[in-house]
Amino acid sequence: MSGTQTMPAGRACARCGRAARGGGTHWPEGWICATCHTHALETYGPCAGCGAGRLTPGIAPGGGRLCTDCAGGLGDFTCQTCGREGIRYRRGVCGNCVLAERLAVLLDDGTGRIRPELAPFAAAFCQMRRPRGGITWIGRPHVQKMLRTLADPGTPVTHETLNGMSPWRSVAYLRDLLMLHDVLPPADRNLTLFERWLDETLAGLSQPGHRQLIERFASWHVRRRLRGFAGRGPVTGRQTQQARGEVSQAIAFLAWLHGRGRTLADCRQAEIDAWYAGSYTARRLTHAFLRWAMSSKLLPPVTVPHQDTANPAPISQRQRLDLLQRLLTDEETELLTRVAAVLMLLYAQPLTRILRLTLDDVHHDRDGGEVAIRLGEPPAPVPEPFASLLLRHAGQRLNLTTATNADARWLFPGRRGGQPMTPDTIERRLRRAGIPARGGRSAALRHLVLQAPAPVIATMLGYSHDGTAQVAAEAGSPWSRYAPVGHDRPRSGEGSS
Ligand SMILES: [Zn+2]
Ligand SMILES: [Zn+2]
Ligand SMILES: [Zn+2]
Repeated sequence: MSGTQTMPAGRACARCGRAARGGGTHWPEGWICATCHTHALETYGPCAGCGAGRLTPGIAPGGGRLCTDCAGGLGDFTCQTCGREGIRYRRGVCGNCVLAERLAVLLDDGTGRIRPELAPFAAAFCQMRRPRGGITWIGRPHVQKMLRTLADPGTPVTHETLNGMSPWRSVAYLRDLLMLHDVLPPADRNLTLFERWLDETLAGLSQPGHRQLIERFASWHVRRRLRGFAGRGPVTGRQTQQARGEVSQAIAFLAWLHGRGRTLADCRQAEIDAWYAGSYTARRLTHAFLRWAMSSKLLPPVTVPHQDTANPAPISQRQRLDLLQRLLTDEETELLTRVAAVLMLLYAQPLTRILRLTLDDVHHDRDGGEVAIRLGEPPAPVPEPFASLLLRHAGQRLNLTTATNADARWLFPGRRGGQPMTPDTIERRLRRAGIPARGGRSAALRHLVLQAPAPVIATMLGYSHDGTAQVAAEAGSPWSRYAPVGHDRPRSGEGSS
């Protein structure tokens, strides 16, 4: 910049009052520091002296701004290329013209001209009000690299291309500019927010090895899946929330492993089991990272525990019917397990409830032969061949009881006196027999509500109306809006044939 000299020591800036700190300019009002000088040459407006709308570097005695002429001649700030007034960067050329020159070189697509797709961006960018910041920005090596890549006619000008660039902040700034000037379509907001979160999260990792691993995991698994979603429509907050969870869990796992003196490469099954122990639900999102690490040969083969969570995938109706058929005829499996499983699959009962059933809940009208089970009111009819199995179990049950449980009337008596069997015990038995302990129940419930009014089933099976109506609505039942009137009995034995 012309007119810059070294401010004599002991002098203060006439505008801000700060002591001399190197470069300054001597104007009629006194020494002006570099900061105030730059600010003066970026200030435009109506001149308080002549009223012209132009650069107003001077300050009037009354406080208004003055153009260079009205201020007594502060210098000539006219650009020799474009005629605009402002800071001149080189041989009398303004910052906007310098920006235009540099962009023309950086964005040259090989034909000696700016790549046509980028022309709207270049034209707008070099007209910025304070070109100083723009000149600094495009002077940075990583920004120059980004711009040269985009200028290459072999590179598509797309969000995907930008996704592959770094660092994130510069990419985000460039992306905003390209969107602002319609070079790129508006980006997916959730995806953009996720990228920013990821960048900040990675920057916050102190272990370089961990950062590298998480970066790879994010690129190869998390981002890839999100892009798949983005290809089918806007990415939802839920999808990016899961992505964040997977990254956070992976980071937490690596830190935990590090705390135990191990790395991914020497992590054993014992560590995996310890990690999941006690907080399976919270750590479920670690699955993705572990599977990716194994497939990438970064982690020795381990078994990732699987456990049904609050909303297990229901088994299909076909599976349910096959299971029921097998249970009703399979004499290999213990009777107790078969009965519990059929109660679950046929009547959509949770295990905790099945275990509270007593002999008094099994009704047997000896004359008519009809068997019913009281899960709610009225008791639900028990179709054959399950009725025979149930009665057989009720009769044999006494033989299984221990002395302490001799007079307990539980349908599934436990080892401890006066107590029914524990849910864990029965769940283990069901698993051994190949029965999904939870998915099966929701499948049964979904199937039942498609065939009878939800309130009737709810009453019969002891469910609250609201909960059953909800499942009915989800299952698309024509009865989902059925009002609870009367006492229609559902047809018995749904799904048993
Ligand atoms: Zn100053
Ligand atoms: Zn003036
Ligand atoms: Zn110019």
